[in-house]
Amino acid sequence: YSSPTQEQSNIKQLKVNVQKENLQVYLRIRPVTSRESIQDVPKDCVSLEGVDTVVLKAPSYCQSSWHSDKNLPQTLQKFNFTKVLGPDSSQRQVFEGTVSPLVRGVLEGRDAVVFTYGVTNAGKTFTFLGPERDAGILPRSLSVIFRSLEGRLSADCSLKPQRCKDVTKLTRLQQTNEATLKNQLLKLLKQSDSQKPNLSQSSTCSSEGDSRISSASTSSDTIANISANSSAAESDSFQLTADSTTEFSVWVSFCEIYRENIHDLLETQEPRTQKRNLLRLAQDVKGNSFIKDLRWVQVQSAEEAYKIMKIGKKNQSLFATKLNQLSSRSHSMFSIRILRLEKTGLMRVKSVSELCLCDLAGSERCTRTQSQGERLKEAGNINTSLLTLGKCLNAMRLNQHHRVPQHVPFRESKLTHFLQGFLCGRGAVCMIVNISQCPSAYDETLTVLKFSALAQKVVVLTSRPVLPPVAPKRTARELSMIINQAVCPS
Ligand code: ADP
Ligand code: MG
Repeated sequence: YSSPTQEQSNIKQLKVNVQKENLQVYLRIRPVTSRESIQDVPKDCVSLEGVDTVVLKAPSYCQSSWHSDKNLPQTLQKFNFTKVLGPDSSQRQVFEGTVSPLVRGVLEGRDAVVFTYGVTNAGKTFTFLGPERDAGILPRSLSVIFRSLEGRLSADCSLKPQRCKDVTKLTRLQQTNEATLKNQLLKLLKQSDSQKPNLSQSSTCSSEGDSRISSASTSSDTIANISANSSAAESDSFQLTADSTTEFSVWVSFCEIYRENIHDLLETQEPRTQKRNLLRLAQDVKGNSFIKDLRWVQVQSAEEAYKIMKIGKKNQSLFATKLNQLSSRSHSMFSIRILRLEKTGLMRVKSVSELCLCDLAGSERCTRTQSQGERLKEAGNINTSLLTLGKCLNAMRLNQHHRVPQHVPFRESKLTHFLQGFLCGRGAVCMIVNISQCPSAYDETLTVLKFSALAQKVVVLTSRPVLPPVAPKRTARELSMIINQAVCPS
């Protein structure tokens, strides 16, 4: 075991290696839908101030009684964000202003996570997936990734884990026979294509909304539309910083967390029963959480990846119907992994980077949705995950100011356990908060804005501190204390 002075110098060493930045929190305000405008949504409920501030005005019915701070005439409240995207912002603007820089990072070998946060009907899925003709951040990310990697994709799918032992994240990649899995998935897709109505029913946007997906358009249209609708080409792909001996391969996975259970959405079997395979979270040697036995599928194009995502989406809603619940009650995570391969001699994996896109469940309280029985349990569980996320962010924020590090309860929910690595410096973290302008959603909107204001203050590491090579064996808690000491200004 190292001496106290050795410990001190280790901490000093860590401080040098650590980079910090605020969590990126973006706000997107949903435009008023045609159904809402009939009820006449007042213009000044939610208003923009500059590029990064939003002002929320309490509707008249709750102006007197509903405020926590009774000393102030708080009919108006201001909240700051990294950037506010107003109701007029297009899908393209949202992508370019939020996720696009992260996609560039992922292509350069860094990890990133994006998650949407807000109540049901606030526009999370619209932002995440979008309607077929107006693609959201997921299809856009796929499009940019594959355009950037054009001509550089490796045809080799024979990489075995033992050949890339140095890359720990890879060890799970070849668990299933991915070629067979992919064939099964593509067969499924063919079947669902021939039963078009089913596919469009399970499609991306929530059923309660007024934007219907045209069943005539196909997955490849969605991807093709992205570039067809854009005139400026500079952000449609990124220049790679890789020499000619480097090739790439792209893998995707799709899973959901429902009632604190993790399920693979790339199931190839018809979900007959409520019994589904449960997946567990595990930790690799770098301390990053990963989902054990999750299926990863190698993809050769954005269209293919998008099609596979649609199968997952269909599975999600099939399960949801079986359980008589809305699919918006689960958190879904679509991940894209990019492998950099060294072509010279024996094919070797140089690095693996991951972009994880999470569409989180609605953050509403259960009283609002009148949950009862099963539903109540469900809503309770969703809140456990989101509540824990709040607790974690709060503890992280406090750790920035206190010498004695607070315990951050990452392990209290599946979602936070999953996000732990990202929140502790594995890569960039981007949160997109969605709100609507309806006065009827005022309470919820206020809660969401307060939550995001808290998140906005959290400082995350952008590069994980490198632990000393001969570190003695420690418990996770000891390690987190050392890292905390390095991060917290003392
Ligand atoms: P959530 O996933 O948060 O429950 P949705 O994404 O399903 O919400 O959005 C609810 C409704 O509002 C849908 O009909 C969707 O098409 C519409 N909508 C959301 N955001 C926008 C937007 N930026 N522009 C146009 N319509 C939108
Ligand atoms: Mg949704």
